[in-house]
Amino acid sequence: MACDRIRTLLPLLADGALRQPRRFFVARHVAGCPDCAARLEELQSVGTMLRTKLPFHRAPPGLAARIGAALPRETPPPVPRRRVPVQAFAGGLVGALAGVALTLLVMPAPRDPVVQGAIDSHVRSLMAEHLMDVATSDQHTVKPWLSARLDVSPPVRDLVDLGFPLLGGRLDYVDGHKGAAVVYRHAKHIINLFAWAAAGRDTGFSETARQGFNVVSWHRDGIAYYAVSDLEADQLAAFARLVSGG
Ligand SMILES: [Zn+2]
Repeated sequence: MACDRIRTLLPLLADGALRQPRRFFVARHVAGCPDCAARLEELQSVGTMLRTKLPFHRAPPGLAARIGAALPRETPPPVPRRRVPVQAFAGGLVGALAGVALTLLVMPAPRDPVVQGAIDSHVRSLMAEHLMDVATSDQHTVKPWLSARLDVSPPVRDLVDLGFPLLGGRLDYVDGHKGAAVVYRHAKHIINLFAWAAAGRDTGFSETARQGFNVVSWHRDGIAYYAVSDLEADQLAAFARLVSGG
């Protein structure tokens, strides 16, 4: 199964068009798989042959200029200027506070290394043929399996009637946190729900999009949760509400 998945990505790797973190996982697989390595070599030699052996026709002189002249002229759109809040200059405590508030709004949210760790673990689980340690749709199997091996017992729900069948679970690490990964599916999309023991107060749901994945995180009853999938953001948010029971 891993090889099938890798094979679909090999042409991109051969073309140098595969981006991280996929490139890393594909290259690592190829390094340890003679079959895929041979396939990659084949693709690379075909690419070289196409570049070197195909006849090459030079464009007639003036063609580029004629094409350029035929294209409609484009004026670049004006660059929007960021408006400076008047309050920031208004002096006095109220003005200063308003300035601080606006600055906080304008500044991008700090990158959460745990979000990146959760995405890495999600990708790893899909690429490395290690999606599940315990593969079953029975929540009464997954939950005790996880709680026997971890210091947390994340809720494992049967959401099949709501369109999110349970596939199983495994142990995983996210950014150094040892925890549970409970695996669900929605249509063809895999959802990894990572959970580990974490001190702190309960929070609401926080949504992030990065590298083509959506991440919804929250904290409840001493457990940090990160749901990762290539599902649409609103569907993943709906999943998060369902799985957290509210
Ligand atoms: Zn392979």
